[in-house]
Amino acid sequence: MDSRLREVDAPAEPANGAAALATAKAEVEVTKPRNDRRGYRRVVLPNALECLLISDPDTDKAAASMNVSVGYFCDPDGMEGLAHFLEHMLFYASEKYPIEDSYSKYIAEHGGSTNAFTTSEHTNFYFDVNNDSLDDALDRFAQFFIKPLMSPDATLREIKAVDSENQKNLLSDPWRMSQLQKHLCSNNHPYHKFSTGNWDTLEVKPKEKGLDTRAELINFYDSHYSANLMQLVVYGKESLDNIQTLVESKFCDIKNVGRKHFSFAGHPCSSKDLQILVKAVPIKQGHTLRILWPITPNVRHYKEGPCKYVSHLIGHEGEGSLFYILKKLGWAMSLEAGEGDWSYEFSFFSVVIQLTDVGHEHMEDVVGLLFRYITLLQTSGTPKWIFDELLAICETGFHYRDKSPPSNYVVNISSNMQIFPPEDWLIASSVPSKFSPDAIQKVLNELTTENVRIFWESKLFEGHTDLTEPWYGTSYCVEAVPPSIMQKWVENAPNEDLHLPKPNIFIPTDLSLKNVEEKVFIFSQLCT
Ligand SMILES: [Zn+2]
Repeated sequence: MDSRLREVDAPAEPANGAAALATAKAEVEVTKPRNDRRGYRRVVLPNALECLLISDPDTDKAAASMNVSVGYFCDPDGMEGLAHFLEHMLFYASEKYPIEDSYSKYIAEHGGSTNAFTTSEHTNFYFDVNNDSLDDALDRFAQFFIKPLMSPDATLREIKAVDSENQKNLLSDPWRMSQLQKHLCSNNHPYHKFSTGNWDTLEVKPKEKGLDTRAELINFYDSHYSANLMQLVVYGKESLDNIQTLVESKFCDIKNVGRKHFSFAGHPCSSKDLQILVKAVPIKQGHTLRILWPITPNVRHYKEGPCKYVSHLIGHEGEGSLFYILKKLGWAMSLEAGEGDWSYEFSFFSVVIQLTDVGHEHMEDVVGLLFRYITLLQTSGTPKWIFDELLAICETGFHYRDKSPPSNYVVNISSNMQIFPPEDWLIASSVPSKFSPDAIQKVLNELTTENVRIFWESKLFEGHTDLTEPWYGTSYCVEAVPPSIMQKWVENAPNEDLHLPKPNIFIPTDLSLKNVEEKVFIFSQLCT
């Protein structure tokens, strides 16, 4: 069955940043799920804003998401959290809708919800709303990117809101451990930064330096919020033509200053940040082991999907897998493996293991078994049947998944639009389609004892640490673990039977619909 949707409309950034006269037209094919009856159309507005329009006659909610290709990596030095703070400020009011919070109120009164988030290189705004309110909701939403009002008193109040968000995060282990990982990276790389901001970074410190936070905010908005760096998805019950008319009329006034996409070359981990064991004290009980390696980003080879192949095996739960053995020994409660923080420039492969109390006592053995399993993978070649099984699982997941809520769907796609070419905006990196033993071997070869850093979290380390992470106050200490020590852990680990999984005959490979005659035939055969 043909799963590729043929659509008109298309690319084209206006030459030299000058506005073209009309929405650009050309042809593009977007790969979509086989059972997906929704209509999709890509359009590029004259201001270079890239849009994907989705028409779903069966939807009970409309939705939209705008991805802006800027995040906390672009925060000016000494003004940590400015990109996140701006994300908050755009919700307040605009010249066209000057009453504060009128956007959020309108959406809430019309059956919807709003939200936004800021990451290293994205800021994403989104909402869902009753179908008949999409027009008015979009009109308010578009003003975020055309003429927002950033009044001085709203600025001060919203710094307090950002600060109270940070107060909450101070008690959250995922935020604390994520920042500790960033803290123990090169301070020349933006990955090292504190991303959310607080009262100190957005009010106290700027004042001390004679800086006006509101002026910095407006400057940041003017320089980074350019239509050529935005990606919009609008999802509605209307026809594609009607949605296109709506989008053209509401979003054509976003200015295009021709800003170049920010990118920072190099990896945040330097050699001094490797071969370390970090013991950290979490807020919650429990023991967690995080083993991380800087690797080549999977996104550069997303059609080959080498990280998917490797994480499929390291995260496997069948007989002979690492988790199977750790569970049998009573050492682990869960194990996750896969690519963690990543961008086009850098990435980490991580294995996260929730240890039992006994497992905590056997940390060295656990790491030893992990490296023994990795050596097994490095020396077993890359059997194609494993890739074929993985491909079958991923294809089923993409082509036959249930519809996700429109607001989740638009956020995923608008984020993909910044990274993938238009034909892959829906499928992104979810289905590795090219078998490449070389690409897989390359990732496996990066998972070495020379290239590793280990984070070990437990309340039992309380009182045994000598350092404090500055933003969240996490107590920790750092020990060097050269490869020679880890090699001893490998040698001393129990002699368990680690092996590759056996083929799984229950993974479906033929998901085509059978016709009625065929079914009747099978049924009559069974009855005779
Ligand atoms: Zn926030």
